[in-house]
Amino acid sequence: MERTNLLTSFQDFGLADPISRALKEENYHTPTPIQAQTIPLALAGRDVVGIAQTGTGKTASFALPILHRILENRIQPQPKNCRVLVLSPTRELSGQILDSFNAYGRHIRLSSTLAIGGVPMGRQVRALMQGVEVLVATPGRLLDLVQGNAVRLGQVEFLVLDEADRMLDMGFINDIRKIVAKLPIKRQTLFFSATMPKDIADLAEQMLRDPARVAVTPVASTVERINQRVIHLDHSAKPAMLATILQQDGVNQALVFTRTKHGADKVVKGLQRAGIAADAIHGNKSQNYRERVLAAFRTGELRTLVATDIAARGIDVDGVSHVVNFDLPNIPETYVHRIGRTARAGADGTAISLVAGGEEVGYLRDIEKLIRVALPKEDHRTPGAKPAPSTAPQRGGQRNGQQRNGGQRNGSAPHAARGGDAAPGAKGPSRRPRAGGPNAGRHPDAARHEPAARPQHGGGGQSEGLQGVAFLQRKNRPAKTTQQRPQR
Ligand code: AMP
Repeated sequence: MERTNLLTSFQDFGLADPISRALKEENYHTPTPIQAQTIPLALAGRDVVGIAQTGTGKTASFALPILHRILENRIQPQPKNCRVLVLSPTRELSGQILDSFNAYGRHIRLSSTLAIGGVPMGRQVRALMQGVEVLVATPGRLLDLVQGNAVRLGQVEFLVLDEADRMLDMGFINDIRKIVAKLPIKRQTLFFSATMPKDIADLAEQMLRDPARVAVTPVASTVERINQRVIHLDHSAKPAMLATILQQDGVNQALVFTRTKHGADKVVKGLQRAGIAADAIHGNKSQNYRERVLAAFRTGELRTLVATDIAARGIDVDGVSHVVNFDLPNIPETYVHRIGRTARAGADGTAISLVAGGEEVGYLRDIEKLIRVALPKEDHRTPGAKPAPSTAPQRGGQRNGQQRNGGQRNGSAPHAARGGDAAPGAKGPSRRPRAGGPNAGRHPDAARHEPAARPQHGGGGQSEGLQGVAFLQRKNRPAKTTQQRPQR
């Protein structure tokens, strides 16, 4: 692992003045650990492999040095070419990355655009016509544009791969290989992943040149900081229970998950009937609509957002106090990913799962095995119904969640999202950090009817040190997808 003298102020990096000014306006004072490690290496021209999750400030850790370096040699990109190519797994994350580049580059009239699936190609083709400095793309759409001769990759100077593990999970490996084969050998590559299993390390090995390695390790996983509860109830009682939850004190903003698009629409209608304003995002909604709804949720204007897993990917919104699983996910890792939408920036968060009988009881069992926590349960079923059994393992028990559903994971949906990356129906279980929560082994029955017992922290709270992760909340910036052109 690379050790550098860690810099504690953005001024120490010697970033170009217009970038420093933008950082001040963004209220960035102290670099996060991943920034302190990555920025000097990237400024020196090194390839970097970074192990860091969203929320650690990793976007700035690659965007700032890249912006500085393109300013050092400001040349007009050739038509249909880009100088910086950022590959990201989802539309939402791509939009957020582009917003960050534009925010940090606000004083340099950066030219930038998005190439993401799910929207018509025409606008993207036109935006690329004159060439851009920064192109943020999802792999499938980028390849389509390359094949349609709308973009050429022969002049890329900087390549960023963000959330590499998710890209592999989503079946993008072949697309990435094809893209990389078209890039110049002489380039700087910055590669980020939340986890570094062997297949990701192998990919990095093939793509990078003598990379420096940096990492930030979470001291307390998100899961441990979240107050998790399960409510057993009849299926038909879910809408009323959801309305009750959302009307409780302390609910600032809530993200409600359903397994299906149809389910999301039904939930919204039910809430509206109960007088609760809510809106849904899922793959059947237009990109435009999704952006509008997300922007309203980001600003807090919309307090309840109902989403499917795919649509909710990459959403980091300040103030999500509650995540409600209206349906339990059938892939246990998805549960971890869902509830991680709350308790950002070290804040408290509550995750409530509504569990009806049948298959959801099995899903709950899988989740408890994965997170090794017997979740506190309340039983609201009609009298006479038997409480659902739970089989969370005892402390120290085998973490066998990883073996379960094996066939459904790891590249289970190759190209499911092609052309419309992370499109409706694509199944891309995320590899979020596993939790070995301190409540592991509490007997489930001991917790039944408990009022929302809060799991204790694993230890240490939130270190800000080299190994600590400052979980940051994404700023409330509406996604901008328009091109900004330099006026020179
Ligand atoms: P990221 O991990 O890149 O998604 O960043 C998460 C959030 O932290 C974003 O809203 C950033 O704007 C914000 N952020 C990143 N770096 C800093 C910093 N050094 N100081 C304050 N906020 C930051």
